[in-house]
Amino acid sequence: MVRALLVLILLLLVARAFWRVLDGVIEAAGGTTRRSARTPARGMKLMRDPVCGTFVPPGTSRSLMAGGTMQYFCSEKCLETYRASPHV
Ligand SMILES: [Zn+2]
Repeated sequence: MVRALLVLILLLLVARAFWRVLDGVIEAAGGTTRRSARTPARGMKLMRDPVCGTFVPPGTSRSLMAGGTMQYFCSEKCLETYRASPHV
């Protein structure tokens, strides 16, 4: 009977250790993983300026409708460059 109790305690300890490891894995797979270096800002979608290649937030940048798609620019200068020759 004592032996059965010891085995039960041992199983509980193993189970606890197992769950702790599993929790750590889930946490690592969740929000705390390293983000790709390609994404400039977390949670914000950035659009690429077709002229100079700078990533700009669509809400605050200058935009131009071209060929059915919206193009975003970092500055008036880039917008004018694109407008002058859209195939840069
Ligand atoms: Zn630009």
